[in-house]
Amino acid sequence: MPVAMGISCGKCGRVYFVAHQDNARRIRFDNTDKIRPSYQLTCDCSAVHFFEKREMLPYSVSAYCIQRGYAERGDHLQIPPVINRSKMRAA
Ligand SMILES: [Zn+2]
Repeated sequence: MPVAMGISCGKCGRVYFVAHQDNARRIRFDNTDKIRPSYQLTCDCSAVHFFEKREMLPYSVSAYCIQRGYAERGDHLQIPPVINRSKMRAA
C-alpha cells in the first residue's frame, strides 16, 4: 500500500495527509505564538489540534484514501518511527 505523511485527529481518529491540496484549509502553519505548537489542524469533527511537525507520521493507506486526502480510524496503518528501523539495522 502507498505511504503518506499524515496527522491524526485525537478526537475522532481521522488521519489527514499533509500533501493533499484539500487539507491546506484544514492544516495551517502559524508560528506567531511561541508557546503553542506551530501547526493547527481543524478536523471535520470540529476538533482543533495544535501540533509540531514531528507529530506528522507516515501512514500506510490505500490509494483511494490518499486521493481523497484522509483516512478514517481503521483504514490506516501507522508505520513505526524510523528510529526503530535504524536500531534493527545496527543490531
Ligand atoms: Zn476529528
